[in-house]
Amino acid sequence: MKIYADNAATTRLDIDAFEAMKPYFLDDFANPSSAYNFSKNVKQAIEEARRTVALCINAQPEQIIFTSGGTESNNHAIKCFTAQNQHCCVVTSSIEHHSVLYACENSGFEQLIMPVDKYGVVTNEELKIALDKCCLKTSPFSILVSIMTANNEIGTIQNIKALSETVHSYGAIFHTDAVQAVGHIPIDVQTLGVDMLSASAHKFNGPKGIGFLYSKNGLLQIFHHGGGQELGMRAGTENVPAIVGMAVALKKNVEEIKHNTEHLLHLTDAFFTILKNSDVDFILNGHPTERLPGNLNISFKGKSGEGLMHMLDLKGICISTGSACDSINQQVSHVIKAINVPVEYREGTVRVTFGKENSEKDAMDVANTLIKMIKI
Ligand code: PLP
Repeated sequence: MKIYADNAATTRLDIDAFEAMKPYFLDDFANPSSAYNFSKNVKQAIEEARRTVALCINAQPEQIIFTSGGTESNNHAIKCFTAQNQHCCVVTSSIEHHSVLYACENSGFEQLIMPVDKYGVVTNEELKIALDKCCLKTSPFSILVSIMTANNEIGTIQNIKALSETVHSYGAIFHTDAVQAVGHIPIDVQTLGVDMLSASAHKFNGPKGIGFLYSKNGLLQIFHHGGGQELGMRAGTENVPAIVGMAVALKKNVEEIKHNTEHLLHLTDAFFTILKNSDVDFILNGHPTERLPGNLNISFKGKSGEGLMHMLDLKGICISTGSACDSINQQVSHVIKAINVPVEYREGTVRVTFGKENSEKDAMDVANTLIKMIKI
C-alpha cells in the first residue's frame, strides 16, 4: 500500500503540465533573452504563461514576476518593500510560514507579531491594535502588513478582504502569503484588495522550484540586479520549462476548483466520520468551516505525532506532524502553540492533507490505520 496524504508539503506534477514542459528541455531550449529567431518561441511561451497566471488571479500580466517559489516570493515582497523605505513598521501574525516570519525579523525594522484566536484566525480587532501601535511609534513611516491567506499546518483561511480593507484604511500596504491557497480556493486579487501576493507551483500540481509574486504596479523596485529579466525586477535566466508547467497546472486547478473542493470535502468527511465513531481521544485543530478543503490537523491526547507519522510510514502512508520544515526541527510547531492546543494533546499532532488524486478508500485507510496505531 502507498498512500500519499501530505499534499500541503507538495503535490504530484500534473501530467498535462509535464507534457507542456517537455519541449522546453530538448527542443526549444534557447535562452529567451537571445536576439535570434530560435529564442522567439521561448520568449513567447514565458509571456503566454504570465498572461495565464495573471488571468487565474485576476491580475495584469505586468504585475506578475516569476520566482523560485514561495520562500523567494515572500522574501522578495517583504525585504524589497522594507529596503525601499527609511522608516517601516512590519506587522505579521504568529502563525505565518517561517519565510515570512524570518524575512520580517531580518528586515531591519520593528516587527509586530499579532496573536491569533483559538482557530488560527487573525481578527480585525488585533489588526487594528497592531496598526495603532505602529502609528504611534514611527513617523514618518510606511507600514507593511503580511498575513497568510491560508495556513499550511491547520488550514485556516483568513478573511483577507476584511483585513485588507482595515490595512488600507491606515494607508498601509498588504502582502499575503497565498502559497497554500492559490489553485485550491478562488483567488481574485482585485476582490481581496491585496497589494502583493506570493504563490508556489509545487503546491498546486506544478513543478518544484518555481512560483510567482503579484505586486501592484510600481510598488516594488529591483530585487535581483543583473541582466534585467522579469520586467527588470528579478534578473537571472528564466526557468522556462517550469514557468510553462506552472501556468498549465494553475489553469487546470483553477478550472477544476469546484469539483476538487467537493471531492476533498467528501474525503475529509469520510476520514472524520471514522475517527468520530471510534473511541480515540482527539481534537481537530483550525477553523471548523473556514479551512482548506483537504486539510485535517488533529491532535491525539497523550500520543506522539512523530511516532504516529513513523508508524504510518511503515505501512506505506505519508502524513506529517506539521509543516515539512517543522519535521526538521522536531518540536511542537509555533502554529500549534499559537492556537493554544492543550498541552496534553500538543505532542500528538499530525497533519493529513488529501489531494485531488486521493480516493475515498485512501481516506478510510488512513483513518483506520491511524486508529489501529493509536491503540497499539
Ligand atoms: N508559505 C507557505 C504557507 C508554505 O506552506 C510554504 C511551503 O511549505 C512556503 C511559503 C514556501 O514555499 P516554497 O516551498 O515554494 O519555497
